[in-house]
Amino acid sequence: MSRFVSIDPVNGETTAVYPVTSQNEIAEALCHARSYYDHWSGIPVAQRMKRLDVLKALIAEHLDELVETLASETGKTVQDALGGDIIPLIDAINWLQSAAPRHLRPQHIPGQRSTRLHCRPIGTVAVIGTWNYPFLTDGSSLLWALAAGCTVVWKPSEFATGSAIALHRLFREAELPVWLVTGGADVSTHLCNLAPDKLAFTGSSTTGRHILALLAENGTPSVMELSGKDAMIVLHDADIAIAAKSAVWARVVNAGQTCVAPQRIFVDARISARFTDECLACIKSLQQGRDFGPLRSDLQRALVNSMVVRAVQQGATLVTGGYCSSDTGYFYQPTLLTGCTDEMSVITDDLFGPVLAITEFNNEDEITLRSNSTEYGLGASIWSRDVSRATNLARQMRTGVVSINRETQFMASNPAIKFGGCRASGFGSVRGTAGLDEWVVWQPVAVTRRASFGRHLMPYRRESVGILRAFARLKCSNGMQARINAVRALVAAMHAWQVGTRKPSAPSNMPAATPSTLTSTRKER
Ligand code: NAD
Repeated sequence: MSRFVSIDPVNGETTAVYPVTSQNEIAEALCHARSYYDHWSGIPVAQRMKRLDVLKALIAEHLDELVETLASETGKTVQDALGGDIIPLIDAINWLQSAAPRHLRPQHIPGQRSTRLHCRPIGTVAVIGTWNYPFLTDGSSLLWALAAGCTVVWKPSEFATGSAIALHRLFREAELPVWLVTGGADVSTHLCNLAPDKLAFTGSSTTGRHILALLAENGTPSVMELSGKDAMIVLHDADIAIAAKSAVWARVVNAGQTCVAPQRIFVDARISARFTDECLACIKSLQQGRDFGPLRSDLQRALVNSMVVRAVQQGATLVTGGYCSSDTGYFYQPTLLTGCTDEMSVITDDLFGPVLAITEFNNEDEITLRSNSTEYGLGASIWSRDVSRATNLARQMRTGVVSINRETQFMASNPAIKFGGCRASGFGSVRGTAGLDEWVVWQPVAVTRRASFGRHLMPYRRESVGILRAFARLKCSNGMQARINAVRALVAAMHAWQVGTRKPSAPSNMPAATPSTLTSTRKER
C-alpha cells in the first residue's frame, strides 16, 4: 500500500503517515455514496438539517482535538484555527439549518400560476480540497451539498489529511453520507475520471485547469474556487491607521496563505508614507508563534522568498522582513515592500505568504485600470470615508466579491454571502443560497388540472398562421396606436380562423400532400 507523510511546519518533523487510497477503493467509495443517494435525498431537508445538530454536538465535544490537529498539521496559530476554520464551520451549520429548508422548498415563478420550481439534488458529488482553510473551504462544499441532498466523496489536500480524518470521523458518527479518500494528485485524477455527478475543486488556478480538462472527458459540471490576486485600494481620504492595520492583518493571518487577501496594495501617493509607517508599526508589534505561524512547506517559503528577493532586485524597497525567521520550521518574517511596480512578479503572480506589496497611484482614474489588469478576479477592497465614491469604484472591480472599509476575508467566512471568483479565479459559487443552487437541479413542474388536447395541435391550419403572425406583431408593438392596430389585426385573424373552423372538415381519407400543394402553401405564407 502506498503512503505519504505529514510534516509539522513548525519544526519540519514527520508527525504522521497516511495511506494513499487505491483506485479500487476510490471506485468503492463512489459506489457506496451512489448507493446511499436515494435514501439521503429522500429524507426531507428539515430532517437532514436536524442531523447537523449531532455534528455540532460532536464538534463541541472534540473541539480541542480538532484545533490541535488542524494547528499542528497546517502551522496555524490556535486563533487562526478557531477563527478561520472551526467557527466558520459551525456558523455554516447554523446558517444552513435555518436557510436550507426555506430556500429548497418549491418556489413560485413570477407570472406563472400552474408551474412551480421543485429542486432535485444533483446526485453523488465529489469535493477536492485545499489545506489553507480546510474546514472552511472544503466545508463550504461538503455541507452545502449534503444540505441539498447529495452524497459526497471527499478528497482533502494531502497537507490537511489528519484534520480531514478527524472531521470525517464526526461526519460518520453523525451519519452524514461523506466518504473520504486520501492522497495527492493521482487520487484527485482518478476521482475526476470516475465521473461524479458534479465536482467542487478548491486550489490553484493551474491545478484547476488540469482538473477541468479531466472533467471535460465526461462532461462533468464543476465549481472552481481558484487563486486570487486581490487589490486593496486606499484612497486619500481613508482612515489610514485602520486601513494599515487591516492590510497587515489580512496579509499576515494564516501566514499570508489566504486566497482572498490583498496581494496588491494600491495607495494614494499623498498618504503612502503615513500608510507605510502605520503598517511598519503594526508589523513590529507582531510576535512569531503568537500572531503568525509558519508557511505550510519549505517549498512554499522558498518561493515566497525568491519573489521578495526579485522585487528588491527590480527596485522595490524592503522596509522590513524578507527573511526566514527561524532555523527550524518554515517561518517567514512578515515583509513590507514599497515602491512596487505593476511589472514585478510580487504584483503579477499569486504570492502565498505574509508579504505586503505597496504600489502608489497619483490619479484615481488610473486605479480601476491598474487593479483590473490581472487575469485573476477573486476579491478587492476599497478604503475611503466617501462611501458612495468607494461604491462606485467597487462596482468597477472585475472580481467575484468586493468589500468597502473592511477586509474581504470577512465576506469569505460569512455563510450567508455567496462567494466565488471570476476569470482565472474560477466560476460557480460556494456558500449563501447560490451555494445551495450549485447542488440541485431546479425543475419546473407544470400542472394542467384536466388533461386537454389544445386546439393549436396538429394538423395545423392555414388560418392559425395568421393568428400567430398577428400575435407576434402585437408582442412587438410599442405605443398605444400601434397596439390598437395590432389588436385589430389579431381580431381579424381570429375571425378568419373561426370562419375556417365552421367549414366542413376534410374527409379522413384526404390524400397526402403532393409536391404541388406544398409549393402553393409555401407561396401563400
Ligand atoms: P493545489 O492546486 O496544489 O491543490 C489543491 C488540490 O488539488 C489538492 O487536494 C491536491 O491534492 C490536488 N492536486 C494538486 N495537483 C494536482 C494535479 N496535478 N492533478 C489533480 N489534483 C491535484 O492548491 P493548494 O496548494 O492546496 O492551495 C493553494 C491554492 O488554492 C492557492 O492558489 C489559493 O489561492 C487557492 N485557494 C482558493 C480558494 C478560493 O476559495 N478561491 C480557497 C483556498 C485556496
